[in-house]
Amino acid sequence: MSSAPPILEHACLEPVADRDAYGLSQLDAEALCEAACVRRDRVWGKSLTFSPKVFLPVTNLCRNRCDYCLFRRSPGDPGEWTMTPDEIRSWLHRARGQGCIEALFCLGDTPETGFGQYRALLRSWGHERTVDYLRWAAEEALAAGLLPHTNAGILARDDMIALRPVNASLGLMLENVSDRLCEKGMPHHRAPDKRPAKRIQMTREAGELRIPFTSGLLIGIGETVEERVDTLLTIRRLHRAYGHIGEVIIQNFRSHPDTPMGLAAEPTSDALAATIALARLLLDDDVSVQAPPNLNPASTATLVQAGINDFGGISPVSPDYINPQHPWPYLDRLREACEAEGFRLEPRLPVYPSHLEAPDFIDASLRPRIDQLQTELTTP
Ligand code: SF4
Repeated sequence: MSSAPPILEHACLEPVADRDAYGLSQLDAEALCEAACVRRDRVWGKSLTFSPKVFLPVTNLCRNRCDYCLFRRSPGDPGEWTMTPDEIRSWLHRARGQGCIEALFCLGDTPETGFGQYRALLRSWGHERTVDYLRWAAEEALAAGLLPHTNAGILARDDMIALRPVNASLGLMLENVSDRLCEKGMPHHRAPDKRPAKRIQMTREAGELRIPFTSGLLIGIGETVEERVDTLLTIRRLHRAYGHIGEVIIQNFRSHPDTPMGLAAEPTSDALAATIALARLLLDDDVSVQAPPNLNPASTATLVQAGINDFGGISPVSPDYINPQHPWPYLDRLREACEAEGFRLEPRLPVYPSHLEAPDFIDASLRPRIDQLQTELTTP
């Protein structure tokens, strides 16, 4: 990178200051990607990781209406579901039998706030609130030999306190810190839980509670490049305050015909690559940068050349319920694509070594299961 601008040479070595981040974002995608690969290779080496997971969509009831969402339902809508305790148990055992490590519990935001029928259903199973059901489900996952990771949208501080002892990590995509995206005519206008202040508050509280945490940036929903930088810098500030962000997902919007954004343009491959590279260059070295391969099936090489070190969760047993028309890649093909780029593909736990090695990020009760699964992953 001998002819690179000084700011890029600096970014190859360490994250640039906030004031320089916006200038960095104006450089072309190719230069950003080259620098991001230098940083990625130096810190993360020549291995790309994924988490073998089972995806459990506990309920698709959601009180929000994001304009790009195909997943959400209201009670009575065709395709509405809430997984029964028996379904959850049966999926967990099947997943463990097929080599999964992570149980990902994912659901719409605060469904009990809006829907009385759902509250009655939970009570019939002995649970007052969604968080009680999620705690029960995570205990079942641990008993089945899996490590839970829960992404339940906005959780109150007490909810996170309840879930911490039974989850290896929790997650919430920050998506974007721009309030503009919540204005009338914008994709989060009808999504009260997508107000940036709420999501920043939950991310901060997770840090205060010493919970390993997944965040993320969603691109292509009407945000500007500056707003992407604002979002990455916000995640960086939160991580620097608490050290809890294990990974940041860079997710590209995909359009679905049955949604209000069905005709909206998707982000270009160049825009995605530049944003991944920017994330790698702005975030601290101990934060994993991830992009989902099923949303970018033709361009695994693009993701790798943009500076990712991780593909996130990939399931051998369950579809991506959020993006059902985009199946997970076959592991053999993904492995071949990684090897063609000079990388090994390796499975990992749903929590990163920096948090496993820290004294207070993991509840002591989770250690035996973590140690057992770590041994399983490292034993040939
Ligand atoms: S994206 Fe999430 S919060 Fe928005 S409507 Fe869909 S399920 Fe609800």
